[in-house]
Formats: sequence, structure tokens, C-alpha cells
Amino acid sequence: MRAYLPAYHLEAVRDLNEVLGRLNREPGRWKLFAGGTDLMVLLEAGKLPHRNFLNVWKLPELRGIEVAPESVTIGAATTYTELRNNETLAREFPLLCRAASETGAIATQNRGTIGGNIANASPAADSPPALLVYDAEIELVSARGARWRPLQGFYSGYKQMDLRPDELIRRIRLPRGQENWRAHYRKVGTRRAQAISKVCFAGCARVENGRIADIRLAFGSVAPIVFRAIETERLLRGEKISPAIGPAAGEKLAQEISPIDDMRSTANYRRRVAQNLLTEFIEMLSSH
Ligand SMILES: Cc1cc2nc3c(=O)[nH]c(=O)nc-3n(C[C@H](O)[C@H](O)[C@H](O)COP(=O)(O)OP(=O)(O)OC[C@H]3O[C@@H](n4cnc5c(N)ncnc54)[C@H](O)[C@@H]3O)c2cc1C
Repeated sequence: MRAYLPAYHLEAVRDLNEVLGRLNREPGRWKLFAGGTDLMVLLEAGKLPHRNFLNVWKLPELRGIEVAPESVTIGAATTYTELRNNETLAREFPLLCRAASETGAIATQNRGTIGGNIANASPAADSPPALLVYDAEIELVSARGARWRPLQGFYSGYKQMDLRPDELIRRIRLPRGQENWRAHYRKVGTRRAQAISKVCFAGCARVENGRIADIRLAFGSVAPIVFRAIETERLLRGEKISPAIGPAAGEKLAQEISPIDDMRSTANYRRRVAQNLLTEFIEMLSSH
């Protein structure tokens, strides 16, 4: 059932200060409207609980990709198309571009933003796994000031995150110097373009003398949150690379994840696919 449109307010804002001022004066009253690609689905289905929105789509303070010597910083309202077209990201953070290019189809990529993907907090979101393995940090701002925090640990439960009612996500920062890590991204879904992930995987590893010197593994759709498989990483760190390490890592991963049955898939299928994606990554590391 469609929503009753006159019950909703979408207000234009001049600048970031105005947004922060309003969030500060009336915390909980306002929600941000960026690309609207998640919000409009809820509106169309008559399931959008909030009524008052501030349109941040064109706010310059939330847009753009800045390259500094130590890091690349991405404005929260940067679209998937802008991510895909950025040469530095394509060269140094290919998993993020891959996630962007597999998020919806072109229309969604032109409108959907990376900040919206993070704040929507879906366990099936496709860009957070890539951001997690790049050790991304996010900048949360409010009228009281700004704080940077790692994306790792930002989500605490299904749709729960460390974002206060008067805060918004302003930027995402990726530390540079990771281009020599071997990296792999796979989204498993029913259809290539529009499908929500059944399982999403991002992995990267630093290899030295045939051993895994460091490794980061992140998954979507296999737990209430998008998460790093820290225990499996710990098991693999320091190991000599060979397909023989696959089974023990797969066992550990199965203990770490908690997939559910839903309309897209069964828990068993998701567990098996997650293990297969890990095996695929280990094989990729072995074949270099
Ligand atoms: C056809 C279709 C296909 C899709 N396919 C995929 C897919 O393959 N993979 C995938 O991951 N997603 C997919 N999505 C979901 C959606 O496109 C993404 O999650 C997108 O990144 C949301 O961004 P947005 O700017 O449109 O968010 P909006 O809808 O504007 O907002 C989403 C939520 O984030 C909040 N928000 C937005 N910006 C900020 C900010 N800066 N700070 C704090 N809160 C903020 C809003 O208040 C709202 O709660 C799809 C959606 C559609 C309609």
C-alpha cells in the first residue's frame, strides 16, 4: 500500500550548519534524505515511519572525493557512479568500486549514496564489506563537534549503530598504501544487477614469503550486521598459504557467522556459500 504523501515533509537546507542546527534543536524529529533509494522503497510500500526529512542530496559539504598523501576521503553523499568513475579508488580500492558497480543498476548507482548505504545499516548492504577490509573510518558530525571512528564496531545489532540522533555521517576515510594487498570481492545474488545479496564477501591479504602476514575478511548477509570475521582472520594470520588451510578456516568461519533463513535463501545455503567464498579467496592467494 502506498503512503499518504501529504503526511510527509521534505525540506531543503542551505548548508551543513543548518542541518546540524536542526538535528540539535529537535533530535529524533528529522531524518536525512540523501539519494532516497532506500527511503522511497519504504514510502512506496507505506512502511516509512518517519515523517520529516532534510534533503542533503546536494550539500557540498557531504560530496566529493579528496586524495591526500595518507588517505582518501569520500563525502557521504557521493554516489556509486562517482565512486566507480574515480581513478584513485579504481586503482587503490578496487573492491569498493566493484561493490559500487554491483549495487543495483545504473539508475540506483546514479542516485544511491555511500553514506545512505552505511546509515541504512542493512546486513545485506554491499559496500560495507569492502569498506571494512580497507579499515575505513567514518566521520560523525553534530552541532557539538566531529568525531572519527572505525567502521569496524559501528554496528552493534540488527539496524543498531553508534549514530546519535543529532549526528550524521559526513565522510568516509580510507588509509592509503594497501594496493599491494591481494584482494577479492564477490556478491552472490539471484540476478547480477538488481538482486539483494544472498552472501557478500570482501577479503584482502598481505602476503610475505608465502605466508599470510595479515588478512581481513568481511561478509554481508550472514549475520545481523555486516561484519569482519575476526576469529577466522586470527586463525589464518601467519599461516603458510596452501589450499590445505581452507577446511579449518571454513570450520572457524561457520562458527563465527549466524545466517538466517529468509525469502532469499536458507541459513544452510548461506553458510556453505560463505565457506566457498573463503575457499575461493584462499585458492586465489595460493595461485599467485
Ligand atoms: C532498485 C534498487 C536496488 C538496490 N540494490 C542494492 C544493492 O545491490 N546493494 C545495496 O547495498 N543496496 C542496494 N539498494 C539500496 C540502496 O540503493 C543503497 O542502500 C543506497 O546506498 C542508499 O543510499 P541513499 O542515498 O539512496 O539513501 P537514502 O534512501 O536517502 O537514506 C537511507 C538511510 O540513510 C540515512 N542517511 C542517508 N545519508 C545519511 C548520512 N550522511 N548520515 C546519516 N544518515 C544518512 C537516511 O536518513 C535513511 O535512514 C538498492 C535500492 C534499490 C531501490
